[in-house]
Amino acid sequence: MIISGKELSARMKADMAAEVAALGTKYGRVPHLVVLLVGDDPGSVSYVTGKAKACDAVGIRNTTIRRPADTTEEEVLRIIAELNADEGVDGILVQLPLPRHISEERVIAAIGREKDVDGFHPLNVAALWMKQPCTLPCTPKGILRMLHTAGVELEGRRAVVVGRSNIVGLPVAKLLLDANATVTVAHSRTRGLADVTRGAEILVVAIGRPRFITGDMISEGAVVIDVGVNRDPETGRLCGDVDFETASSKASYITPVPGGVGPMTIACLMENTIECFRRKKER
Ligand code: NDP
Repeated sequence: MIISGKELSARMKADMAAEVAALGTKYGRVPHLVVLLVGDDPGSVSYVTGKAKACDAVGIRNTTIRRPADTTEEEVLRIIAELNADEGVDGILVQLPLPRHISEERVIAAIGREKDVDGFHPLNVAALWMKQPCTLPCTPKGILRMLHTAGVELEGRRAVVVGRSNIVGLPVAKLLLDANATVTVAHSRTRGLADVTRGAEILVVAIGRPRFITGDMISEGAVVIDVGVNRDPETGRLCGDVDFETASSKASYITPVPGGVGPMTIACLMENTIECFRRKKER
């Protein structure tokens, strides 16, 4: 069975469009997301375009601020301070990666926590790990939503997360743990990775290696969530970290690339923007 992020995110966006229209009527304006893009990395440009399109579909007002790659860190911080102070801005997203001369850490920490739609601010990260209310990072949130919608039982089950990045691996492991799964986190230093992944009833892969996890590394009936977005070195086409062809004959559920986790990430970004707006208006 394929878990289609494309279909699920389309349903979420339709529901959110109605919600945003109602918010607009109630409060006299709709949520407003500002995306800051520094430089012209083609991947980042395409992500930013995708986010703007999703905002349009949902009815969220969106502004993209573009600055050249040689913009200074001071200038980026100045723009963020301005957006923090602007009552008409509900969400701020800085597209990553930033050019190397700019500290991502400092920039993310400068975003007002209440406008941090990515859930990357240190206070939001801390709140997640302390089980306090917070804005959840979009990709892990989308993954949990997919598992939930597909009716995958998590409680008491063996989940393996391959990858331990701050934006995907670690937070998804925490959310699975909160859902009472028994979680193992594997990474580039893990010995006998195939034995670890074969022990998974639920396998989440976020490593950035094209088609790295093959069918023989997956146990019969496992649920496989493929987060990777890579270019296949042979065909040049988009592919995941999981070899879909061999993995899909073993898995009970699997997410495709494209059309899996990617669209869910964007739908959850829309949700987070609406949540930030609501929190501000309803406090
Ligand atoms: P990072 O590069 O930050 O982290 C990669 C992780 O994978 C690291 O923890 C690394 O281990 C681990 N890893 C790398 N190689 C191996 C290996 N051979 N065996 C086991 N573990 C390995 O990546 P991200 O988490 O940011 O992204 C991962 C993938 O997900 C990328 O393809 C990215 O494009 C995609 N992505 C997709 C999103 C979506 O919405 N669909 C959103 C975000 C990311 P170690 O810590 O030891 O170095």
